[in-house]
Amino acid sequence: MTSTLADRLAAEVAARRDDLVALTQDLVRIPTLNPPGLNYREICDYLAQRLGRAGFAVELIRAKGAPGDSASHPRWNLVARHQGTGAGDCIHFNSHHDVVEVGHGWTRDPFGAEVVGDRIYGRGTCDMKGGLAASVIAAEAFIATCPDHRGAIEISATADEESGGFGGVAWLAERGWFDPERVQHVIIPEPLHKDRICLGHRGVWWAEIETRGRIAHGSMPFLGDCAVRHMGAVLAEMERTLFPLLATKRTQMPVIPEGARQSTLNINAIHGGAAEQAADYTGLPAPCVPDRCRIVIDRRFLIEEDLAEVKREVTALLERVGADRPSFTCEIRDLFEVQPVMTDRDAPIVRSTAAAIETVLGRQAGYVVSPGTYDQKHIDRIGRLKNCIAYGPGVLDLAHQPDEWVGITDMQDAACVMALVMAELLAP
Ligand SMILES: [Zn+2]
Repeated sequence: MTSTLADRLAAEVAARRDDLVALTQDLVRIPTLNPPGLNYREICDYLAQRLGRAGFAVELIRAKGAPGDSASHPRWNLVARHQGTGAGDCIHFNSHHDVVEVGHGWTRDPFGAEVVGDRIYGRGTCDMKGGLAASVIAAEAFIATCPDHRGAIEISATADEESGGFGGVAWLAERGWFDPERVQHVIIPEPLHKDRICLGHRGVWWAEIETRGRIAHGSMPFLGDCAVRHMGAVLAEMERTLFPLLATKRTQMPVIPEGARQSTLNINAIHGGAAEQAADYTGLPAPCVPDRCRIVIDRRFLIEEDLAEVKREVTALLERVGADRPSFTCEIRDLFEVQPVMTDRDAPIVRSTAAAIETVLGRQAGYVVSPGTYDQKHIDRIGRLKNCIAYGPGVLDLAHQPDEWVGITDMQDAACVMALVMAELLAP
């Protein structure tokens, strides 16, 4: 590619800097909170108008019957396609349009999209309406520069990434939207920073473990069997054997932050005994021996690990606990699982993006893997499309935080990189 083309693209993006800010502000001011899934239709309609004006063919797709979809909270998705003049690949930019709850601690209006210096503040600026806006501006700048481009550009805005993506990317992938026949390259503009390429994510296994006992009067615990004490033994055995074992399992995946470069386990919740009373209840709890105790475990595993083995470690632990406790009974129930994914560093989208980062920023791209999952899992597993990365502006640590912001110059630079990737893959 000639440096002239790179310069022209950079100039087209720079000329749209105010537009980039305004677009991000408009998107942030549509509060697409999930749960419960607010204003999904509004944000899709807004983007449909915008992309329609830019010459995209736009489709709005409701994930009817998906988890969370209802008449009051329909799960709307948008897919927009700009067809070029000749045969060629399709490059698809996928952003989720939902944002997480506001939470406490804000000093700015979470949906005001206030500009202060080089920053835009608000819920979803970083995760990931800034990335979505950057991809729209990048596409518009590229089309203005290369109106006779080959192949096709797609931009999607999808629902429910923050709650698993089942009414969004998973829904579309199951219906062929990410079939390698129609889409060849995918960039997900999640906030991994403008100089880094995210190749994939670790695996996930969530399970619920329940220990069983026998209810009795709290003054005569010897007549019952305390399920909480059984769970205490399970947790003690985890401390003694499982956590030390996980700390020894290191990965070659370049996971960030560094602490996530090993297997991890979190106890997401614990509950035993009578249900907690409402905050306004002024009475005392009744004395009973708990007959049930439950925990939810959140195990994150590595590409080097096998999910069946990950599960066996826990079932073997429960068997060890049972061997020492004559009345021990328990049940384990799978809640959710995701295999780890990692795109090859030699994949075309990785190489093109790395080259574009070097041209725009004058430094080598970093390669990272995310500690938690995002929609790449559905594109990889359901869509069977391996040529997929996350690349977008923003600082990951700010996601889901109070006073979330995105840098305007970061968005502009990321848009230049995206436009250059389109040029490399689709220029006539
Ligand atoms: Zn996100």
